[in-house]
This record gives sequence, C-alpha cells and structure tokens, in this order.
Amino acid sequence: MQTLESTLKPPATASEFDTTIHRRKTRPVRVGSVTIGGGHPVVVQSMINEDTLDIDGSVAGIRRLHEIGCEIVRVTVPSLAHATALAKIREKLLATYQPVPLVADVHHNGMKIALEVAKHVDKVRINPGLYVFEKPKADRSEYSQAEFDEIGEKIAETLKPLVISLRDQDKAMRIGVNHGSLAERMLFTYGDTPEGMVQSALEFIRICESLDFRNLVVSLKASRVPVMVAAYRLMVKRMDELGMDYPLHLGVTEAGDGEYGRIKSTAGIATLLADGIGDTIRVSLTEAPEKEIPVCYSILQALGLRKTMVEYVACPSCGRTLFNLEDVLQQVRAATKHLTGLDIAVMGCIVNGPGEMADADYGYVGKQAGYIALYRGREEIKRVPESEGVTELINLIKADGRWVEP
Ligand code: SF4
Repeated sequence: MQTLESTLKPPATASEFDTTIHRRKTRPVRVGSVTIGGGHPVVVQSMINEDTLDIDGSVAGIRRLHEIGCEIVRVTVPSLAHATALAKIREKLLATYQPVPLVADVHHNGMKIALEVAKHVDKVRINPGLYVFEKPKADRSEYSQAEFDEIGEKIAETLKPLVISLRDQDKAMRIGVNHGSLAERMLFTYGDTPEGMVQSALEFIRICESLDFRNLVVSLKASRVPVMVAAYRLMVKRMDELGMDYPLHLGVTEAGDGEYGRIKSTAGIATLLADGIGDTIRVSLTEAPEKEIPVCYSILQALGLRKTMVEYVACPSCGRTLFNLEDVLQQVRAATKHLTGLDIAVMGCIVNGPGEMADADYGYVGKQAGYIALYRGREEIKRVPESEGVTELINLIKADGRWVEP
C-alpha cells in the first residue's frame, strides 16, 4: 500500500533553490582595454550610425556612446577609404578624448579592407556568409562534398592573412554569423537552420585554430528569437563537445524600435543570459544608438549580472494602497537614483508590503492613512507622516552612512 509519505515529493535539493546564474566558462578575449569572457562582467556594446568617412562625426558618435557606458563601439567599414579613415578616427579620439575599444565591421569580400582596418582597431568582425562571397548559381540545387571542400579551401586561403595579422598584433576577431546571410553552400548542406549557422561559425573557428589564433568571439544572430536562442544553445553544445571555450556575443538582429524592439531583444538576450550563456551583448534598435545602452544595462541589472543603478522594488498598488504609489515612487527615485548598489522598496501597505520587499536595503511602506513606515531590511525603524516620508528616508540612509551626494 502506498503510504502518504511515499507520495510526498522528496525534499528539494540545494541546487533547486540556487538563484545564482552560473556563467559558462569562457576564455578571456581582450578588446583594447576591455575583456570579453573569462568571468569578466558581461560587456555592453553598440554601433555608431555615422558614415566612417565623416571623421569628426564618427569621433563624436563614438565618444557619445562611450560616455554613457558603451564599452566597445563598432563602426562599419564598407570600403578601403573607410578603413584608412579609422586611423584618423583613432588618432582624434586619442588627442581629444581617450582610447575607446573599437570594432570594425567588414562585409562583402572584405579581405583587403579587413587587412587595412586591422591596423587601426582592436577587433575585426567578419560575417562568414559574406567574407568570401560566392554568387549563387540559379540552376544549382546541391553542393558535392568536393565543391563544398574546394570553397572551404578558398575561404581558408583568403582568411589566412587577416588571421595572421590579428594574431601577430594580439587583437581579436568576431566570427559574426547572421541567419539572414548564410552562405549558399551552408544553406544547401545544412538547411536554413541553427545547424547551418553553427557549422558556418565552426568552419571559421577551425581555420583560426589551424593558425594558432584563438582571440575569438562568436555570434549567431537572427531576427527571430526562437532561431537565435536555438543557434546559441546549439553552438554551446558543439563547443563543449569540441573542447572550445570561445565567448559569445548575443543579439537579436533587426529587432525594430520602441517597446516591442526592446521586448524582443530582451526575450532573446535574457533567455540565454539566464542560462549562463553570453559574454557581451548588443541590443539593436532602429533608434539612436544611445537608446540601446540603457536597455542593455537594464537586462543585466534585472538578471543580477551587473549592478549599474538602484534596484527599485515596488508593488503594483491595489485597493489597499494608502498613498499615490506612482507619485511616491517617482519622488523616491528622483531623490535616490544616484545611490547605485542599493535596493529600495516602495510598497503600498503593511499587510503584504514588508513580506514582499524582496530583501531590499530600505523600505517605504504605507502604514495607516497619512503615515508611512520606514524599514531597514526587514526591520521597521520609524513611522512618519507621509509628507515627510522621502526626507526621512534620506535621513535614514544618511544615518547609516550609505548616502552620497548626487
Ligand atoms: S503591497 Fe499592499 S498595497 Fe501593494 S499591491 Fe500588495 S496588498 Fe496592495
């Protein structure tokens, strides 16, 4: 007979309660003064949209992004003239600002461009689907192994000088696969699938490894979140099987703008980060690049991966709420938003508020009509009239020695 005890679930193990994100172990790859992977904080990057030939505009754009926390800035290099312009951009940054880790994006048949720009930037991003671009043949329906290998050899030959240049300068490369621009031979051989994306990255990784170059970062972006998530997960699986530990750059391409663009990017990036996958991120928005940086930091803060602002815990308010929660939250935020590292809760009532403050450092909780209670952790410290609530909260933080002037 089954006893009650035998039908009960076994006690949860410690790991079931583990709320820490265990990041996948990756090798450190240095990009100028910043390191991607190797246990370093997840790096935030973005891309300017100025024409790289516009030296002053590009310098201003790079500086604007860097000043608000973008740690690596990417520029596009569609021609040799753009590549040489990077020398001037870097010089000007040094003369008027400071060195900024720079990445150059090289596209169609960009071997000469990549070789030139590798002298002026810290990392070169190539797209395996475009680097050695084979025009699709209209009547082709498959690739024989011999044809597949022949093109592979051509790619290896073409990539070799860039790999050697980056290796000898101790600079980095991003192998940036895009779902939308997979090479035709990969499409025919592996289909329009995450497998095709992963194989495309692996082919380039193997060429780099054969030349003893391992300063590599890999990305497998797609505009569809499920495709992107599957591709990165498969890449991790394959790399684990092959003993590779390259860091990953996460992003959802063509995410669009506004609320949906942010949600779509977050859905892809945060899903992977929560699994411990990802060492650098870019949120691609169809907006000014400066708008991407706060989204990156919010994703990282929400997951507890980086703390760049105050964490506010606030209840949604309900019939029990004893004050205008939206107004008070704004007042509290305005007064304390510079206290990076603190967790502050604003809760509508003492019935559920204190229990749901999620271990905030300080709490502002509705007590009774016209009065609020201030908490330090789970301890109620004092009851004050609502009109003095924000001032008294600041006084409490000051008394604890945790206040800094804005
Ligand atoms: S904390 Fe109180 S006021 Fe806020 S939602 Fe919960 S019950 Fe309502």
